[in-house]
Amino acid sequence: MMLEIKGLSKAYRTDTVETKALNDFSLSIEEGEFVTVTGPSGAGKSTFLNIVGMLETFDSGQLLFDGVDVSGLNDNQRSAIRNEKIGFIFQGFNLLPELNVIENVTLPLRFRNMPAAERKQRAEEALATVGLSKRASHYPSQLSGGQQQRVAIARAIAGKPRFLLADEPTGNLDSEMAEQVFELIEQLHKDGATIIVVTHDKKLAQRGTRCINVLDGRCIEGAETELRNAS
Ligand code: ADP
Ligand code: MG
Repeated sequence: MMLEIKGLSKAYRTDTVETKALNDFSLSIEEGEFVTVTGPSGAGKSTFLNIVGMLETFDSGQLLFDGVDVSGLNDNQRSAIRNEKIGFIFQGFNLLPELNVIENVTLPLRFRNMPAAERKQRAEEALATVGLSKRASHYPSQLSGGQQQRVAIARAIAGKPRFLLADEPTGNLDSEMAEQVFELIEQLHKDGATIIVVTHDKKLAQRGTRCINVLDGRCIEGAETELRNAS
């Protein structure tokens, strides 16, 4: 099992308010699955994805990644797993404005002791995959929203992650661009990656191998999965 989550809980606290973002959230994902995640705004989808991507910690419950208990790892160990195995496409790009396209794409590879020549080659391949080879020296502000999102995808895939997490990757795109971006993600799945994609788009959500719904910080399996389990 690639990912095993059991009874995960996470609350955000300020002086006066406590918000339960995840509440007894459980889910297992096998290698090679393409899981789509839907659910209303504020349900906990981003929190779930950030915790799986080891960008955030949790309060209680268990998260096993490749059989390893993540809560037993220190920051360095978590970063090492994240850098080697996980690609993350954030809601709203997260590109660095002062870096050009190829610098944005190579940035995560720098944290891996990868020689400069290999970094450059990987980044060029990733940019070719997303159709942006000719934009390598542009800055994010010189690109359209769709192009920026494709740079964010190139950055996530340049490291050839086994596990790709995407938080509403088509959220800010027109339908044609959204289709292209989703097709890219489907291609990565065909090439062997395990994928979790959060999306508002019900039609896109149906294109995964499995759809889950997040409601009030809990994970509810989609109707399709229930049918499959029943048969
Ligand atoms: P979704 O991605 O499904 O819209 P989120 O995971 O972003 O939901 O948020 C779940 C809940 O946690 C929401 O009520 C949200 O307001 C709250 N929340 C998320 N991030 C923070 C934060 N950094 N500080 C305080 N509350 C937060
Ligand atoms: Mg969100």
